[in-house]
Amino acid sequence: MRCPSCGSDNCHIIEESETTQKGYGVCSGVCGYLLLGPIGFLCGLCGMGEGKTKRRSFWICPHCGRKFRV
Ligand SMILES: [Zn+2]
Repeated sequence: MRCPSCGSDNCHIIEESETTQKGYGVCSGVCGYLLLGPIGFLCGLCGMGEGKTKRRSFWICPHCGRKFRV
């Protein structure tokens, strides 16, 4: 991979992960309770803190610091 900025072909690939934290949803717990009883409520609790993780890969050029998408 060649850097589009400076033409160096010494680029490295890096992976960035971005996590969107989601707190315990009272709604999901209550909805789960209504639908499934205590088990559903526990399922709502289990979902606590489980965020969505997005992973993106970039090439990074050590020469000029340019970062670009794969
Ligand atoms: Zn570069």
